[in-house]
Amino acid sequence: MPVTTGDIRDWIQRSGQVLHENNAYLTQLDSAIGDADHGINMDRGFQAVNKKLAGMEEADISTLLKTTGTTLVSTVGGASGPLYGTAFLRAGVATAGKQTLESADLITLFEAALEGVKARGKAQTGEKTMLDALAPAIEAAKQAQAAQASLAQIVQAMVAGAEVGTKATIEMTATKGRASYLGERSVGHQDPGATSCWLLLQALADSIKQ
Ligand code: ADP
Ligand code: MG
Ligand code: MG
Repeated sequence: MPVTTGDIRDWIQRSGQVLHENNAYLTQLDSAIGDADHGINMDRGFQAVNKKLAGMEEADISTLLKTTGTTLVSTVGGASGPLYGTAFLRAGVATAGKQTLESADLITLFEAALEGVKARGKAQTGEKTMLDALAPAIEAAKQAQAAQASLAQIVQAMVAGAEVGTKATIEMTATKGRASYLGERSVGHQDPGATSCWLLLQALADSIKQ
């Protein structure tokens, strides 16, 4: 079954819940290598997004994603606001006119998001950022798709890829964002932004399962 507008709406709502529940955890991760606000930023951003979307009953997939992006950019002060904002905006552009999303559309959506984050943050994988969850998630999705997996299995593969990628950030030295100020001392800590990306993908998997 393809992803519907309702699934995307459910995903964004669920993301708000999951980020709220993980506010303290993400903030604790950010306190080790940043400024202890990643959970607060993401929670605040997604509460604003969901307030906004509640008044947009007729919105299609593209509009939901674009509105999420613009709202994150305007409500989150930290680095993650413009970065996730760009990701959702690009995802919205990539899904323009779609009423449902097949596996290939979903991969296109996330590739557009990845390119957006790379362009906005001038980072590559291996720099201990959210890209280190998102890029392996997309790689895993492509492999699953090539192996004829179902859409739900592809999204599960993304979650697994993001988990491996997030855990791999522990051993990385940060060279972008606030954590880069710590240099080698950033080693031994899991990146907060990679962790929130993994949580967002887990929320998507849970929405699609419904
Ligand atoms: P801030 O660092 O401004 O306080 P947050 O704490 O909300 O913002 O977000 C920090 C996260 O943003 C990091 O854990 C990292 O994953 C991500 N990040 C920071 N800089 C970049 C970048 N240039 N490219 C991609 N992701 C980045
Ligand atoms: Mg921070
Ligand atoms: Mg900050």
